[in-house]
Amino acid sequence: MNYIVFDLEWNQSPEGKWNRNQSIPCEIVEIGALKLNSDKEIIDSFNELIKPQIYKKMHHITKEILHLKMEELEKMDTFTTVIERFLKWCGEDYIFCTWGPMDLSELQRNMDFYQVPSLTTGPLKFYDIQKLFSIAMDEKRVRRTLENAVDILHIDKTNPFHRAGADAYYTARVFRSITDAYVERFFSIDVYEAPKSKKDEIFVMFDRYSKYISREFPTKEEALSDKTVKSLKCIYCKKSAKKILKWFTGNGRTYYCEGYCSRHGSLKGKIRIRKTKTGTVFIIKTIKSINEEELKALREMHADLQLKRWRKNH
Ligand SMILES: [Zn+2]
Repeated sequence: MNYIVFDLEWNQSPEGKWNRNQSIPCEIVEIGALKLNSDKEIIDSFNELIKPQIYKKMHHITKEILHLKMEELEKMDTFTTVIERFLKWCGEDYIFCTWGPMDLSELQRNMDFYQVPSLTTGPLKFYDIQKLFSIAMDEKRVRRTLENAVDILHIDKTNPFHRAGADAYYTARVFRSITDAYVERFFSIDVYEAPKSKKDEIFVMFDRYSKYISREFPTKEEALSDKTVKSLKCIYCKKSAKKILKWFTGNGRTYYCEGYCSRHGSLKGKIRIRKTKTGTVFIIKTIKSINEEELKALREMHADLQLKRWRKNH
């Protein structure tokens, strides 16, 4: 299997949010990619600029960081033509690798906008090199910039950043520095497309946590009353954990709960509500085995929310 390390540059509405096309807030203007074989050796490259069709002027930030001129882009092929060449170039057996999770979603959003057939009918496994780099550096909560990672690894900065080809190259170099064991253990799942049916739902186990991605539900209430969604199972023995704190929320988008397994100790459940492009709802639930300190933080959060609610009602 090959790795396709890619990076996108995009333009946004020059008038900011005012005149933005909601179905395509980021219009892709460049695709840069490298194909790596299973030994992570670079075997091919892909680099193309794209003629914009939605935003015909550069957003000031895009202009500043990309150093791309509209006149230059005008001469290029449109997205539909370029993406067709890109996907053909990717081949049959590959996995995408990107710096952060955004590029893969934006790629799919642009494809949707131009009615290019989807890459997948459900969630897509990929490698988020930014996340893998943090794990390899043992700083799980930090998300470093690509340039920062390149500096830490003393990689020669031969080309300016923020051009797709250069960024894909640097991402590939960072990727090569990460041991295979990490890469396979900490893959990512893109949920631009939610699971379409119960049998497509995703259950995966990572180091200290499990992840569940539900199918689509018509409403949040229906999702939250589903048995599988509500359940809290111990990630180690899979038995139903005793609920110490039932699912609670502060903002209606993220829910937490505390559970306890008599053999494996405290667990923290977290549900994130996600909306699909058609307005339906699906959920991402993680269950984590937690230590004393994390347990304390969870209970404090619960107490704070209760206090807030009490104040609001009194
Ligand atoms: Zn257990």
